[in-house]
Amino acid sequence: MSKKDYYEILGVSRDATQEEIKKAYRKLARKYHPDVNQNDPSATEKFKEIKEAYDVLSDEQKRAQYDQFGHAAFENGGFQTGPQGFGGFGGFGGFDDIFDIFSNWGFGGAGRRRNQPRQGPDLRYDLELTLEEAATGVDRELEITRTEICPDCSGSGVEPGTHPTTCNVCGGTGQIKQVRQTVLGQMVNITTCHACGGTGEIITTPCSRCRGRGKVRRSRKIHVNIPPGVDTGTRLRIEGEGEAGSHGGPPGDLYVYITIKPHPYFIRQGVDILYEVPLSITQAALGAEIEVPTLHGKAKLTVPPGTQPGTKFRLRGKGLPHLRRSGRGDQLVQVAVKIPTHLTAKQRKLLEEFAATLNEEKGESRGFFKKVRDAFGAN
Ligand SMILES: [Zn+2]
Ligand SMILES: [Zn+2]
Repeated sequence: MSKKDYYEILGVSRDATQEEIKKAYRKLARKYHPDVNQNDPSATEKFKEIKEAYDVLSDEQKRAQYDQFGHAAFENGGFQTGPQGFGGFGGFGGFDDIFDIFSNWGFGGAGRRRNQPRQGPDLRYDLELTLEEAATGVDRELEITRTEICPDCSGSGVEPGTHPTTCNVCGGTGQIKQVRQTVLGQMVNITTCHACGGTGEIITTPCSRCRGRGKVRRSRKIHVNIPPGVDTGTRLRIEGEGEAGSHGGPPGDLYVYITIKPHPYFIRQGVDILYEVPLSITQAALGAEIEVPTLHGKAKLTVPPGTQPGTKFRLRGKGLPHLRRSGRGDQLVQVAVKIPTHLTAKQRKLLEEFAATLNEEKGESRGFFKKVRDAFGAN
């Protein structure tokens, strides 16, 4: 069976302008669209013919080939127009025009386009850091597994060197339109084509690497620079390192959720650090020069004589840096006085002698015991 001339199919002259071709195509596509001719199977064939003619004539390169060689230009495996040819996603130039026709028909929002670019989903990575790492900031390599666009088929799902065919269920529109006559008038219901999933194309030879999905799972190492000052609950956004997008949409983002491990002896209070230092009763009573650990190395601290348990000393600037502004918090050193649990005979004797000297301050002691008695309601 010999193929009909493309110009004849569209009813345009051989020197028709692109505008005339487009106009003729739109008019015919409206008339023969399979959804409006559901009882007429020949309309589908006619529509495919029109679309094929338009695909060629609307592309200047293909049109030139056709003018020169006729249908023979596209036999033996179809067009070979390089990477943007029929193999690519949405390579059929006619799709947008078909959707344009739908919107021109005024079907409202029913015809939401399935092929619209969509951003990929975000990814979450939970990262545990030490308090020291939070204080200085740290560089980390995060190993993630994510979905990426298949590098072999560039996401089309089509085996390189082969071409998808137009879906004959929807005629390449990706949509099924049902028209019903009701008392209120014509009701139109548009659904996504079940046969092609809305792409309008049937992939006859799926890409062997991604099995036609257009996407592959890949393991990646992502370099992340953690700024100083992060805390449990800090969320870092790494733009564009999430899952691949759909239909040419951008990838999602990678979110790094920070957790700070509990420290053996530092307690974080925002940007301040609380540290409890154990002192002997003599250090507290007589005063002492001590060394305390900080996140920034050891620091000297002078404990004055007569320091009470619970007293807090402030080491300025020895805390954590602020995350979003300059400056650092402080380290608070809280005194805990250790009471000896075991005494040697000599220590006991010395303490008893010390106690005897306290008895001289009777007024003070008596006052103290009186307060205790009062508190318990005794006479
Ligand atoms: Zn692939
Ligand atoms: Zn379809």
